[in-house]
This record gives sequence, C-alpha cells and structure tokens, in this order.
Amino acid sequence: MAYDTDNVFAKILRGEIPSAKVYEDDFALAFNDIGAARPVHVLVIPKGAYETQSDFIANGSDAEVLGFWRAVSVAADLAGVTDGGYRLIVNTGEDGGQEVPHFHVHILGGGPVGRMVS
Ligand code: 5GP
Repeated sequence: MAYDTDNVFAKILRGEIPSAKVYEDDFALAFNDIGAARPVHVLVIPKGAYETQSDFIANGSDAEVLGFWRAVSVAADLAGVTDGGYRLIVNTGEDGGQEVPHFHVHILGGGPVGRMVS
C-alpha cells in the first residue's frame, strides 16, 4: 500500500498542524501524544515517509534506522524517564492497532506503567 501523505504525522512533519516538540534532529521528531495515556507519553517518528516498522526496516537506510533509534533514547532522556524507566510500544498494522500510518514509537513513563495486558 502506498504511503498516505495526508496522515496526521506527515502533516505535523510539514508543520501544517502543531505539536508539542520534545526533540528534533535530522532523522526524527519527538512530540507529546495528544491523548496521553501516562504522565509521560511521547511519540517519536522518523522524518522519512515510512508506514510501519516493517516498511522502515525494509526501506530505510542504516543511517536513518540508527539515527531514529538514537533519537528515541534522547527523547526519553529529555522527557525525564531514563532513570525511572519507561515502556516503548510500536503498534504495527491493523492487527497491531496502528491508527496513524506513519511509523512511530510510543514512550510511556513518568510512573509505573503497569503490566502488559495484551
Ligand atoms: P497508534 O495507535 O497509531 O500507535 O497511535 C497513534 C497515536 O497518535 C495515538 O496515541 C494518538 O493519541 C496520537 N495522535 C493522533 N493524532 C494526533 C495529533 O494530531 N497530535 C498528536 N500529538 N498526537 C496525535
């Protein structure tokens, strides 16, 4: 399936809708989730047009993949959750419950996130 250039995260990357930025570099943008599920809920997205984790790994360059995952760590540091700990979630595809078709990582923390339920 072709990447949907009208998805909400593509619009955030283009500056067409605002976001509360946590971190940005050449590879990634991190911003607060609009519907925070925990005291800290940051989304990290690659700058490139990748729909899912599978798409990103299959088609992203080594530099993009490395740069993206480094940015996840930096965003966790800046959000203040590195010492206390945090959970990363990647919802992928329909069965994975992915709502926005631009690959993204959720950083959840700011207190115990609880058991994984599914
Ligand atoms: P998914 O289910 O695709 O893994 O997660 C998508 C996430 O994007 C949800 O947690 C949702 O709250 C968040 N989200 C959807 N629209 C917006 C938006 O316009 N701005 C921000 N900051 N987050 C959004």
